[in-house]
Amino acid sequence: MMKVFIHVKEKSERLPNKNFMQLGGVELYKRTLLKLKDFDVYLDTDSDQIFQACRDDINLSHVTCYRRKSKYIDMEIENEEAGPTPLMIRDFLDDYVEDENEPILLVHVTSPFLKVETLLEARSIMLGTDHDSVCSVSEIRTFTLVKKDDKYEPINFDPSRLQKTQRLDPILHINSAFFVFTKKSYINGGNNRLGKNPYYYPIIFPEDVDINYPDDFYTAERIVVNDNDNGIRATERNLSTKEYKKEDSIFEIGGVSIGGTNKIIIAGPCAVESMEQTMRIADRVASVGANMLRGGAYKPRTSPYSFQGLGERGLEILKKASTATGLPVVTEVVDRESAKLAIDYVDMLQIGTRNMQNFSLLKFVGKLNHPVLLKRGFSATLEEFLMSAEYLMANGCEKIVLCERGIRTFVRHTRNTLDIGIIPALKQKSHLPVIIDPSHSSGINYSVIPHAMAGLAAGAHGIIVDVHDKPNEALCDGAQALTPSQFTKLAHLAEDMISLANKMDSI
Ligand code: PEP
Ligand code: MN
Repeated sequence: MMKVFIHVKEKSERLPNKNFMQLGGVELYKRTLLKLKDFDVYLDTDSDQIFQACRDDINLSHVTCYRRKSKYIDMEIENEEAGPTPLMIRDFLDDYVEDENEPILLVHVTSPFLKVETLLEARSIMLGTDHDSVCSVSEIRTFTLVKKDDKYEPINFDPSRLQKTQRLDPILHINSAFFVFTKKSYINGGNNRLGKNPYYYPIIFPEDVDINYPDDFYTAERIVVNDNDNGIRATERNLSTKEYKKEDSIFEIGGVSIGGTNKIIIAGPCAVESMEQTMRIADRVASVGANMLRGGAYKPRTSPYSFQGLGERGLEILKKASTATGLPVVTEVVDRESAKLAIDYVDMLQIGTRNMQNFSLLKFVGKLNHPVLLKRGFSATLEEFLMSAEYLMANGCEKIVLCERGIRTFVRHTRNTLDIGIIPALKQKSHLPVIIDPSHSSGINYSVIPHAMAGLAAGAHGIIVDVHDKPNEALCDGAQALTPSQFTKLAHLAEDMISLANKMDSI
């Protein structure tokens, strides 16, 4: 058994509403308490709600909860510089701790994702070494901003622009998520959690999430949705729906605004085949109004004998084409490795129809916090489609574009059946932008433009279309590729259709 000290503040001049009680903070903080069921927990609080919750909940019988002394509440409110925490800890040590060498754990209740294993490991580090205390730290990396097209971008993300003089070593900073110390080290150090010889214990996301601002609280809530490992019932939020967020999401990806009345045209080859092929096609589509470039480096082919894509070399080519044309790029990722690699090369990750319900991939990609183009599974219902978006959002991803690309029906005249009806239905239900893919829905060249126009007419926020200048030689999906001159025609027609469809949105 280890003794754990926790304090929860409600009243604080320095940080008003610090613990978000009004938003449901009690539930969130109970997580921390429940997780510590194998420890002796002492909780000092000025919050009536927390105090009551501890009294009423039989699962919290391991928690000794007491009310904060009023002198400390006054000190909290009056003293701008230093709070009463060191004195509260000292009182706890004097009142409850006899053995001055016993490791004591102080846990920050605003770090609700700390794992018990981490805390136990920190304790054994202290017991097994000559450190007199352990304290949790995060790694931060500094970055320098450079101006590009009127915007500032961190140069760290573009290795080709790194300067030799730049320091990119990680820097540690104390995040206060937890401390381990003894009564002896605390008193010797003059009421200091950090002893004379501390061990700095690095923790990473989500364990280092510290709730200090409303945004942090919402991030934490989203993680809760997907984190059932402590046997606590998750609150379902349906983050992708209009019940959660009324206004349509409008966001930028690589300088291009998506959502609302901004309609995007994404064009490019189905697959990246070579530097020359991609550069040629990228140039053509850029010159006639595409806003974003597409191209697959990892192709999830139905047959294992078909061309599988160029992999990382394909990503390098896409990056070059993006730099040359100024178009941001979207590319499909098929597993964790490709996703991890792709974020350094492209502006948006595509999850294809075959992977729409690959939940472990969705969770992983969600955590990368990179924009995602999520294609509808070819037999997915609207609810299943939005639940897949939910996986991404619950894991932290906010910029998601939904894409209808045709579903499987009994017909043979098209490769898939474009489900026009899902466009208004999605717009009704969800705040996320929705685009259509007329190439993969129709599967055949003559049908692509009509499909594209139909999708825009139904109110889609854009299209993603396959273009190839030598469709007969294409290594993938040549039959459905538009030639550059056909694409030029489509781009012109689309302009008219978009202005008509935008009128419909204002009805
Ligand atoms: C693609 O866009 O290249 C693709 C494979 O699409 P889907 O996942 O819709 O078949
Ligand atoms: Mn394709």
